[in-house]
Amino acid sequence: MAKFNNNVYAKTYNDPESYDELLARLRSSFHNGKTRSVQFRIKQLKSLLRMYIDRNDEILEALRMDMRKSTLEGYMYEIDLMKNDIRETIKNLSSWSKPHWLNPNWLTIADRGYILKVPYGVVLVIGTWNYPFQLTLVPVAGAIAAGNCVVIKPSEISSYSASKIAELIPQYLDPECYAVVNGGSFETDLLLDHRFDYIFYTGSIGIGRKIHAKANKHLTPVTLELGGKSPVFIDDTVDYAITAKRILWGKCMNMGQTCVAPDYILCTQKVASKLIPHFPAIMHEWYGDNWKAVPDLARIVNKKHFNRVANLIKTASGSIIMGGEMDESDLWIKPTIIVGVNPQDQIMNEEVFGPVLPIMILEESEDCGLEEAIQFINSRPWNPLCLYCFSLSNHVRNQLQDRTQTGNMAFNDTIVQFVIDELPFGGVGSSGMGSYHGKYTFDTFTHERPVVLRDFSFLGDKVGLIRYPPYNKYKINFLSFMLWHWKKFNIFYFDYVPHFICFVMGLLSIVIFDWVYGEGAIAFNLYNAFTNQSTRFM
Ligand code: NAD
Repeated sequence: MAKFNNNVYAKTYNDPESYDELLARLRSSFHNGKTRSVQFRIKQLKSLLRMYIDRNDEILEALRMDMRKSTLEGYMYEIDLMKNDIRETIKNLSSWSKPHWLNPNWLTIADRGYILKVPYGVVLVIGTWNYPFQLTLVPVAGAIAAGNCVVIKPSEISSYSASKIAELIPQYLDPECYAVVNGGSFETDLLLDHRFDYIFYTGSIGIGRKIHAKANKHLTPVTLELGGKSPVFIDDTVDYAITAKRILWGKCMNMGQTCVAPDYILCTQKVASKLIPHFPAIMHEWYGDNWKAVPDLARIVNKKHFNRVANLIKTASGSIIMGGEMDESDLWIKPTIIVGVNPQDQIMNEEVFGPVLPIMILEESEDCGLEEAIQFINSRPWNPLCLYCFSLSNHVRNQLQDRTQTGNMAFNDTIVQFVIDELPFGGVGSSGMGSYHGKYTFDTFTHERPVVLRDFSFLGDKVGLIRYPPYNKYKINFLSFMLWHWKKFNIFYFDYVPHFICFVMGLLSIVIFDWVYGEGAIAFNLYNAFTNQSTRFM
């Protein structure tokens, strides 16, 4: 079956020669200020939301065609997650995009300073195939919210989804400001020769490095959402049944083709022997006897990835205690657990990104292998995207928090840190740079532009006179005092002004009330009290 719907593909910018014209059009829309009004952005976001509601079934079908994604996973992690993200953005957009006004101080007493939240300009979002709608369009929604014009480049590997995105986006978003470019590495490469004002890339470390180098040519800022191996450390304080269930849930979701999936387990033999019996039991409870027949397990996305994952299983040392069977014609690999792998095995040296869970056994020790696990994680040549730990010990938690470098962490569960949109999501070091989700996506695509607004008032000019030549010691001391000391004792900040005004108005209303209804009795008594007292002390 041909993977690309060529009729749809032809309508999009698949011809590199059209890139110049496309980018000129988007840049002109940006410079005309079309995307600047918050109302315009909200209108586009509402339209994007409507796309998800109207075309729900078509999106699920494209996902099913690409990797047999189940309806629940398609709905929850591609559609519903996006709808909630857009709704939250629409609700908060006015307040997020407001300028932030600075408090005046003695130096800026006659001025105003503020931070404008401005869009970068024309941005490029390069998506990947494992969650082709979510990982492409969540950043796009943030870029729209921030007021950018956007070129959207879905992954060619999830080609049904890419075609669907190319078909739907021009129907729902303003084509003068937002466009889809379809194609593979060749087209993306040519696209990257053009100047963008921001690039947001999701994908592998190798291509991420290349994108970064290309962005450098134009000094374009980038967010790189990359992969890596996410370890799971387990000690002996856990509930084994729940631990096994939460790990398998994270591993089986989308057939392990999830960037935040648990990649491998580090535990001692004692822990492994209590944990392992739960795995087949849970799989049987979820999928019965014929796992291949159930609609809830997706497929490997293509033959290349099938062969890559199959090779990881074949070359691993240790023993397969669950799964191991595969069928290339159906791109099916039975969820597999391998116990006793070596650090030198291929499976421990590249991201698994498939339904295989290797377990590396640690030496028995008083800390249940914690020290060895930390040393192992830190000795690897990459920073994990996520670190998972199953333990009830605060000591274990603190040690892992303080002594490892990973993009994010979750204790006693997997994946959940990705779906809480109050948490910024992103990697560190080799697992990426920058973050997004919720308001963080808006911030990613927003430049904070500081502005000082001065006038020609007498007071402002007098305060500033000291900065002009000729310079002398007095001026240095005075400027140094002003710049530092009033900041240290910030009693001069004008935060107190509203409180002071309220206090004066309160006093005034007492005086007026006293004058009108009490004929000045309170004032009279107070006056007497003060004068008598002062007489007494004389
Ligand atoms: P991919 O092959 O779909 O590539 C991603 C994008 O890069 C695509 O749009 C593709 O067209 C483009 N591309 C590919 N080769 C290119 C080249 N030579 N030059 C320019 N562009 C090129 O996806 P992938 O790289 O197989 O993605 C899988 C990786 O992505 C895994 O490592 C996974 O962990 C990671 N990932 C990370 C996240 C995250 O949020 N951190 C999410 C999903 C996947």
